[in-house]
Amino acid sequence: MPSLKRKDRSAESTTISSLSSEEDQRQPGTPTPNSEYELEPSPKRMKTDQPPQDEESEEEDREVNTRAPRQEAPLEGYDDLYLDTVDRNVLDFDFEKLCSISLSNINVYACLVCGKYFQGRGPKSHAYFHALEVNHHVYINMQTQKVYVLPEGYEVKSKSLDDIKFVSDPRYTKEQVMALDRQEVTAWTLSGKKYIPGFIGMNNIKDNDYFNVVVQALSHIPPLRNYFMLEDFSAKPELVKRFSILVRKIWNPRAFKSHVSPHELLQEISLRSNKKFTLTAQSDPVEFLSWFLNNLHLALGGSKTKPGSSIIQQVFQGKLKVESQAITAKADAGDRLRFEEAAEVKVDVNRFLMLTLDLPPAPLFQDELEKNIIPQIPLTNILAKYDGLRAQEQLNTRKRYRLLHPLPPYLLFHIKRFSKNKFVSERNPTIVTFDARNLDMAPYVEPNPQYHRPGEPIWYDLVANIVHEAVRGREDSVEGEEEKHAWKVQMRDRSREEWVQTQDLFVEKTQKELLYLGESYLQVWERRRDGKKKSTR
Ligand SMILES: [Zn+2]
Repeated sequence: MPSLKRKDRSAESTTISSLSSEEDQRQPGTPTPNSEYELEPSPKRMKTDQPPQDEESEEEDREVNTRAPRQEAPLEGYDDLYLDTVDRNVLDFDFEKLCSISLSNINVYACLVCGKYFQGRGPKSHAYFHALEVNHHVYINMQTQKVYVLPEGYEVKSKSLDDIKFVSDPRYTKEQVMALDRQEVTAWTLSGKKYIPGFIGMNNIKDNDYFNVVVQALSHIPPLRNYFMLEDFSAKPELVKRFSILVRKIWNPRAFKSHVSPHELLQEISLRSNKKFTLTAQSDPVEFLSWFLNNLHLALGGSKTKPGSSIIQQVFQGKLKVESQAITAKADAGDRLRFEEAAEVKVDVNRFLMLTLDLPPAPLFQDELEKNIIPQIPLTNILAKYDGLRAQEQLNTRKRYRLLHPLPPYLLFHIKRFSKNKFVSERNPTIVTFDARNLDMAPYVEPNPQYHRPGEPIWYDLVANIVHEAVRGREDSVEGEEEKHAWKVQMRDRSREEWVQTQDLFVEKTQKELLYLGESYLQVWERRRDGKKKSTR
């Protein structure tokens, strides 16, 4: 695995300015030192210890020139020389592209023989010396996808390399993306393993399954997925670019292997979140999703004040009416508490990206066998929080919640299982039961004939379900002790009308009727466009 250390991007400017080659110059959209996402533009970081990469000028260096003459083009009849040394089995473009020697992320080439990354291709570059030292001759530029033979230095334009270019940066036409949910595609890896594009494993590098389940779920929300697969993000921040490429890799029908590694995106997230979310420490998927949606929204140019200003808000944002009433109690003549019912009702309208659903406290019943009974509750019961009738008391305020039209195309439900008091984090194991189809949201929305005929249902169907699993730390540990969290995600395969469950590298079919059996934690529901009720079978 390449080193995780990352060179400061602000070091780029000094290096870039010494480049003379046009095609090795920074591509549009590469982060600039003064981009809005540069967190620490510290002046001392402008210094760099990297040798300038002088590509095309090939300044006189007698020793190097006698060892390897540079060529503009291959000798006649030798244009596929060395291509049989390319080893697709060692290629993995999922890891952050850092030169294995200088650790720089600028102007990086992958050696197609051993898979390692090296900076530059000029006569003093690390790639050049790698070619001389170990006789590996074929290199791909990780930004331009152009392939070169070193040390000679000419470009190879063979069609036989197209599969490698596609794996490193898969691109799709609109027609291909529109067909994703309609055509049943089966694909095969290099080693002949069968897989379904869109339903592949994701490496848990250390403790990043909380992240994997969120990315998997998001990449199965069609409008979001299509946007990140088709738009040109070359001028956008790294966060957007790296999420886009990961989504495109998840759906790759010509992948070399049936899993992806989220390393590149996670490195960027770790940096942007000041290490709040990393690949080495478990986090909460809901906290991560909130952070990720907000940061994607801003990185896409979304406004902090204007609603609907990015695809994130267009897909998930809804409105919520909150009525608050102060609870005032006075002691009457008989010293009994008397509640003042006439307190003024304050009405606020809040926007949300995610709805929190509270679980009732889990009773610790025991059956005859002295085993804990796990309580169950229907999803519609915990959604009743939003019916506008039931009041919830918070401190000295009574609150009622109700959703407002128009409801967003996708609803995110956070089933609140974890609570923290001063000393411990507690988990509520209550099972939430639901049908994956035909969730009627109408009872939780304030009627508004302008948007929806009152009394008619508003159907939503489940798209993805993130499930918590408590893993005992030790064989003999008791409930609650040394528990570790593990996460898996269940997703709908629309082309086959099947459900697939993935947990890191494991991908398996599951049944719609079994989805509710786990500790659902985060759900994505999709509003049905035609408004008709579907058979639940
Ligand atoms: Zn090599």
